[in-house]
Amino acid sequence: MSKKIPKSLRLAAAKRANYCCEYCLIPNIDSYYGFQVDHIISRKHGGKTSLLNLAYACPDCNSYKGTDLGTYLTSALALTRFFHPRLDKWNDHFETDNLGFITPLTDIGEATVKIFQINHPDRIIERQLLWRLGLIT
Ligand SMILES: [Zn+2]
Repeated sequence: MSKKIPKSLRLAAAKRANYCCEYCLIPNIDSYYGFQVDHIISRKHGGKTSLLNLAYACPDCNSYKGTDLGTYLTSALALTRFFHPRLDKWNDHFETDNLGFITPLTDIGEATVKIFQINHPDRIIERQLLWRLGLIT
């Protein structure tokens, strides 16, 4: 079985996401390395290569996520899953401001921000620049 995601599915995932990362919302025009299509539930955990299980992701979010599905938070005793772009609404779990900081609103948001390094200082600076250029709102 091929591990490659068909080009048609990659394009469909990108279009559905309006060519923005479904986790941190930056547009793909900002990526030197090119965006990737992530298996939300990784193949390692039985995730299928279907449009319902694919998310358009920037290289940072995709690489920090890897095959992980969630993490332990200091405030929770149980594993907390990551934000799932097909099941969750972004605004229910995160909010952002014009300073480039993404604030988690839920444990799911906190787990995602933590493991994906969404508020790493370099990523905040990147979002500030994009905001100033009018490329994100
Ligand atoms: Zn991202």
